[in-house]
Amino acid sequence: MFTSLLAWRGLLVVAGLSLASEGLYYLLRYLKRRRERRPQVLFFPVPVTCVRPLLLARPGRCDCGLSHQESALSSLARLLLSARRSLDVCVFTISSLELSGSVLAVHGRGVRVRVVTDSDYMALAGSQVGTFRKAGIEVRHDQDTNYMHHKFALVDGSVLVTGSLNWSAQGIYGNKENVIIIKNTDIVKAFVEEFERLWNEYDPTKYSFSPQG
Ligand SMILES: [Zn+2]
Repeated sequence: MFTSLLAWRGLLVVAGLSLASEGLYYLLRYLKRRRERRPQVLFFPVPVTCVRPLLLARPGRCDCGLSHQESALSSLARLLLSARRSLDVCVFTISSLELSGSVLAVHGRGVRVRVVTDSDYMALAGSQVGTFRKAGIEVRHDQDTNYMHHKFALVDGSVLVTGSLNWSAQGIYGNKENVIIIKNTDIVKAFVEEFERLWNEYDPTKYSFSPQG
């Protein structure tokens, strides 16, 4: 009788511990997901830093003499570089070598990259849109005299990067700018739909492609 009571007690302890550990697992998973979904904000300008090591296929040393400290720029570059399935860029001015280099690196890994930009600004000196096109990245642009003035990007269709920042040295190193990073919400879905809408609207088969850029 006594032995049987002890056995039952042991079983209850084991069952309790098992339930507690399962509960802890689900709690930690919930907290992790909540943390991952929390929006992030990046502010610019940042001090001049080098993000080249992030763009290399294999991590390596960079002896450029500039700082390689983490900054809002390196956070943004890391996020773009994290794309595994798709990278959709919808930005007015794209002249930053750091951010365009991130886009080119993603494309170089075989990830589908699509770019929507402004026809006037893609034709200006310093724009990296021509480099994108030469690299084989699909680029579409607006077809009227108004600006395609958005500044957002979608990583894997589930992470939205949006804000005031043009992808230019002036925006990154000079201006007061903000970038908000939002994950897996209805807001992201709305931007995905806006990107697809513009992508279809600017289909080059419907227009003559701008000779510049
Ligand atoms: Zn460097």
